[in-house]
Amino acid sequence: MSVNPNVVVVGGGFFGCSIALMLKQRGLQPLVVEAEDELLMRASRVNQARVHGGYHYPRSLMTAYRSRHNYQRFRSVYKEAIVDTFTKVYGVGRRFSKVTANQFEVFMKRIGAPLKPAPEGITKLFDSNLTEAVWIAEECAFDCSLLRERCQRDLDQAGIPVRLSTRVVSAAKCDDGSALVRLSDGSEWPVKIVINATYSGLNLLTSGSGLDTIPLKQELAEMALVELPPSLAGLSVTMMCGPFFSFMPYPSRGLTTLSHVRYTPHLQWLERPGEKVTDPYSRFHSLKKESHFTYMVSDASRFIPELRKAQYRDSIWEVKTLLPQTEVDDGRPILFRRDPGFPSIIHVMGGKIDNIFDVEDELDNILQSS
Ligand SMILES: Cc1cc2nc3c(=O)[nH]c(=O)nc-3n(C[C@H](O)[C@H](O)[C@H](O)COP(=O)(O)OP(=O)(O)OC[C@H]3O[C@@H](n4cnc5c(N)ncnc54)[C@H](O)[C@@H]3O)c2cc1C
Repeated sequence: MSVNPNVVVVGGGFFGCSIALMLKQRGLQPLVVEAEDELLMRASRVNQARVHGGYHYPRSLMTAYRSRHNYQRFRSVYKEAIVDTFTKVYGVGRRFSKVTANQFEVFMKRIGAPLKPAPEGITKLFDSNLTEAVWIAEECAFDCSLLRERCQRDLDQAGIPVRLSTRVVSAAKCDDGSALVRLSDGSEWPVKIVINATYSGLNLLTSGSGLDTIPLKQELAEMALVELPPSLAGLSVTMMCGPFFSFMPYPSRGLTTLSHVRYTPHLQWLERPGEKVTDPYSRFHSLKKESHFTYMVSDASRFIPELRKAQYRDSIWEVKTLLPQTEVDDGRPILFRRDPGFPSIIHVMGGKIDNIFDVEDELDNILQSS
């Protein structure tokens, strides 16, 4: 390592890697520390692969608007990882939906998200007793393997060192306000700034460092990987907005994820200030992974009978981390804050992948004020 790092970025997911690049571009010397043996192995790999275009958030104006705003930018910055060779369909359920078809249309117009009524070849796939309306939307997917290659290449080109298979155990406050970061290999790094970009592990670092817990909701999530029948090939459907389902291409495996609001979460818990933090990764490993695919497909095929012919291939599992306030409107704001008890630590969590551009704005604000 030719230059001593002055920032440790904890977590080599998409956010940690991207933030390390931003820091380097702003003249700092980051070191990325990642617990897994490769970059982007956790939530940045195991997710629904949707580049959000705003359609998913008809109850949160800010999240929908920011998604729309970031959508084209994400597509163009990460174009080698973009997959758009499918037709994106959104439907609104007649019963139990939190929005009506009319509200959905008005909302999408407001945020500038294009919607076209679906042609008959598509609407006839849906049970019209359960489905109020169906549209074609403008939304794409990303290939997480290509995104990982891109992050790795960018870090290499920028000369940013990465420690894999290494955990950050704690950060201790020094007299001058800087941080002494302790790694699982026993080494210690005195740095000016620590970026905690560990997603579901955020509170492992706060508790290891004797800091207050950040309120978070953790969810052990399953997405089934299926092969669609020929009648649904090239389609991706998301039913809004309630206890419904979605299927999206999962490009890195050449399959389709099937997820369901009711059956994707297997276990949920809250991390709250003043309470002991349980290790989400241990919970993840100890969970008996019995698939909910049959429940997902039985419910979803009431809306799209052809889905019954989907072939189950596998499931992917991950801890999904949410800010507790998202319970109200299902929004996905970013968490970006200096630790109140230790301002050299900045906690960052993006509820979705395109939020990275919002993080960049916040980072500039905080660096300017330092
Ligand atoms: C089931 C599911 C579906 C999703 N669907 C979508 C979607 O369709 N579209 C979308 O935009 N977003 C989606 N998301 C959200 C998206 O995946 C996340 O916003 C994003 O991946 C977060 O990136 P990250 O880098 O913060 O987290 P991660 O990729 O999890 O990276 C955090 C890294 O920190 C490492 N780490 C943790 N603790 C330590 C430590 N102490 N020391 C060193 N390293 C540590 C971990 O190993 C991990 O690699 C989904 C998430 C889940 C779980």
